[in-house]
Amino acid sequence: MREWRYDPIQKRWIIISTTRQQRPVAWQPGEEVPTPQVDCPFCEGREGETPPEVFAFRTGGPNEPGWRVRVVPNKFAALQIEGELERRGRGMYDRIRGIGAHEVIIESPDHECCLSDQTDAHISLVLSAYRQRLRDLMSDTRFRYVLVFKNHGREAGMSLSHPHSQVIAMPVTPRTVAIELQSARDHYARKERCIFCDILDQELEEMQRVVELDDDYATLCPYASRFPYEMALLPRRHMADFATLTDNQLSSLARHLKRVLQRMKHGLGAPAYNLILHTAPNTSGTQGRRDYWVTLGEDWHWHIEIFPRLTRVAGFEWGSGFYINPQPPEEAAARLRAIEV
Ligand SMILES: [Zn+2]
Ligand SMILES: [Zn+2]
Repeated sequence: MREWRYDPIQKRWIIISTTRQQRPVAWQPGEEVPTPQVDCPFCEGREGETPPEVFAFRTGGPNEPGWRVRVVPNKFAALQIEGELERRGRGMYDRIRGIGAHEVIIESPDHECCLSDQTDAHISLVLSAYRQRLRDLMSDTRFRYVLVFKNHGREAGMSLSHPHSQVIAMPVTPRTVAIELQSARDHYARKERCIFCDILDQELEEMQRVVELDDDYATLCPYASRFPYEMALLPRRHMADFATLTDNQLSSLARHLKRVLQRMKHGLGAPAYNLILHTAPNTSGTQGRRDYWVTLGEDWHWHIEIFPRLTRVAGFEWGSGFYINPQPPEEAAARLRAIEV
């Protein structure tokens, strides 16, 4: 069973997906050892154990060894790619069939090498795979949003220890992104400026919360960070859609991201983390709502959010949606800046 269900009170969609019950859990509670290489379906030479690849940087034929980055459908996908959406309502409840794409970007044939230890050139290939999947999935008009994210480490929800990212294309815009899109559109409507560019200008003037800075990108600890060492990475020049990055911009991003990940690894004791890409929504299937996205190119600014998993979310956060952050972002940024990389 796979379906989207709408909660009319909280105004959010939930995915009910029983296929997720069958997936291998590599890390049992209390067990410290990640999946051994010998059982790993993502390792080179075991290509037959994943669904056939949808994309790869490789030499040689598909689904054989000889690849550097490989993208496959998730074997235990929360959503299914085939079929129509079949939007339905019954009484109080709205549902959509569990349509979506759920893919795994296997970042390297090397089981042991985490993303932060890869070369700049290899990180650039991984980011290039992000771009390729975004371009491809955004051409499917059923999808409103394509989310690329990475769970690193058990506390961040990683179920197989081989380094990988995930892509989920979905027929609804996630609420967190929808709120950001609305704020950006409102700000633009009032000031004819991008809210992210305005924040970036102020941050670069104050230099209190900046972690990493070069000609093309800035990473900072947000003013109202929810978690210790939460970070946001943004391009310094306005750009709405990650999928439009050039190869040069990708290489520069890889260099910047590596330095940020290295700071986190060496400064915070190699914590588990989540990395989330918030790119532009897919406007190709929104006939009738075209006016809605009319300023998207000017008001939206893609960014990457990084959350080291150092604290746990508990009852207060669940109950209130408020967060208590024990670490001021100014202090967090100063500590991360001081790390030698
Ligand atoms: Zn592996
Ligand atoms: Zn901007």
